[in-house]
Amino acid sequence: MTSTPAPASTLALQTGLPVVVIGAGPVGLAAAAHLTDRGLTPLVLEAGDHVGAAMRAWGHIRTFTPWQYIVDPTAEKLLAPTGWTRPAGDVPPAGAEVVADYLEPLADVLGDAVVRTGTRVVAVTRDGLDKSRTLGREQRPFLVRVQDRDDTVRDVRAAAVIDASGTWGQRNPLGASGLPAVGEAEAEAAGVLVGPLPDVLVTDRDRFAGRRTLVVGMGHSAANTLLNLAQLAREEPGTEVVWAIRSTDARRLFGGGEADQLPDRGKLGTDLHSLVLSGAIEHHAGFAITGLELTGDGTVTVVGQIADGERRMAGVHNVAAATGFRPDVAMLSEVRLDLDAGLEAPRQLAPLVDPAFHSCGTVPPHGHRELAHPGEPGFYVVGMKSYGRAPTFLITTGNEQVRSIAAHLAGDDAAADEVQLVLPETGVCSVTLPLTDDDAAAPGGSCCGTAPAAEVPAEVDAAHAAWANGEARIGFATGVEGGRAADIDGGLLPLTQVRSQVGGSCCG
Ligand SMILES: Cc1cc2nc3c(=O)[nH]c(=O)nc-3n(C[C@H](O)[C@H](O)[C@H](O)COP(=O)(O)OP(=O)(O)OC[C@H]3O[C@@H](n4cnc5c(N)ncnc54)[C@H](O)[C@@H]3O)c2cc1C
Repeated sequence: MTSTPAPASTLALQTGLPVVVIGAGPVGLAAAAHLTDRGLTPLVLEAGDHVGAAMRAWGHIRTFTPWQYIVDPTAEKLLAPTGWTRPAGDVPPAGAEVVADYLEPLADVLGDAVVRTGTRVVAVTRDGLDKSRTLGREQRPFLVRVQDRDDTVRDVRAAAVIDASGTWGQRNPLGASGLPAVGEAEAEAAGVLVGPLPDVLVTDRDRFAGRRTLVVGMGHSAANTLLNLAQLAREEPGTEVVWAIRSTDARRLFGGGEADQLPDRGKLGTDLHSLVLSGAIEHHAGFAITGLELTGDGTVTVVGQIADGERRMAGVHNVAAATGFRPDVAMLSEVRLDLDAGLEAPRQLAPLVDPAFHSCGTVPPHGHRELAHPGEPGFYVVGMKSYGRAPTFLITTGNEQVRSIAAHLAGDDAAADEVQLVLPETGVCSVTLPLTDDDAAAPGGSCCGTAPAAEVPAEVDAAHAAWANGEARIGFATGVEGGRAADIDGGLLPLTQVRSQVGGSCCG
């Protein structure tokens, strides 16, 4: 299935240089725990002033996975002598709780010499070689350029580099075509745009109370913000909540409801569905944003294309862009990256997580081989960033990624290749949630109906079948069967015409 990558930078490892980990989020810190456990020397470089900087930004939001799917077993082992135990119970923690109750104690036990905050990585290359130089490449250490809090720039040498810097810092634009909408930069500069998860009910309350806010996007961030805004609207008269999605069908987000094995995630979708049906949230489907026009009175007019022409949404005070994220590959421009051209995920991994075809499939366990960049041995992208533009990453997957990579870097390929992952299943495909009362009456809304075959590229099917034919594993179904291909605008197919996928089908 996968080609064998060139050996990790073994010579460089023998020099005693550290393995640099970029980012002190849950996956970066888990990587440091695994490297320590393997007798290697990690050096975690974190841009923020504190560990878990990205998670802190959405600390008011409850995660949807319980602690068992967050805490890395090796990190737990490292923490045990301090008396730390994994928080009990099945209630998923808020982002802030994950930081305070897990990431901070883990960083403390790793120590200040290992975890450096206020240190932003701005570029990665090979020491003494630019990207065009092939010969002797893997014999050279990496050179990691960092910018400290006081703007001092310096270079750090590394035996290997694990990029766990996430994607939180780079949201997708509002524009429907991958580019910012016309006027988006001006609207951002004017302060009309907010991030995907503003703290609507507490810190940012005044900004939203009594005002009209448009939420754009169709992921769990959008759902969280909409639910909080709907609560604010009940408490603060005059608060208006508008939701626009490019897709013509929101069922993917409404999800599996009670059938979801992550009940908090299922509940999110069900609650949102009720609010849309009741009219508490003004919902616009099939709305592709093309422009934002500042009006001079503190509001913006949002311009979009709908099926029968242009629609203008006037009087919007805030636009919450919950449009997903994309990886920052600019800082890796001197690395011989092997990324899928579309998803910007490692080439071998991309077909296994491609949301166009696999949202109802499962994410197979994967490790150092799928995450390798054959032209750059010793360099890996892990965690949220490893999924590129695919939105379905879970921390527990990242924990397994870094376990495998640390074992490989330590020369234990037997352990590195034994990738294992048990993820919660979801029932998103086995329920049909109507969007409107008319939909409820209409037959054939389920993705599990009999269906003519959709065009799924051969390499996607092959990659999926390769792992599906192995031993039975439990995986994470990530949306309606067929992924975005099931969205009418995404795959140009009605939902009922998406075929069952090999192995990953939720339809039995
Ligand atoms: C609202 C929300 C809820 C989620 N809930 C769950 C959940 O319940 N369960 C689950 O499994 N997953 C969940 N996820 C998805 C994902 O697992 C999390 O986003 C998780 O935090 C990803 O971990 P990470 O370590 O890969 O990246 P991050 O947590 O984003 O950490 C990356 C770190 O790198 C730092 N950094 C960035 N750039 C640089 C740089 N150039 N130099 C140095 N440091 C840098 C950042 O400051 C940050 O601290 C959720 C995501 C969101 C947004």
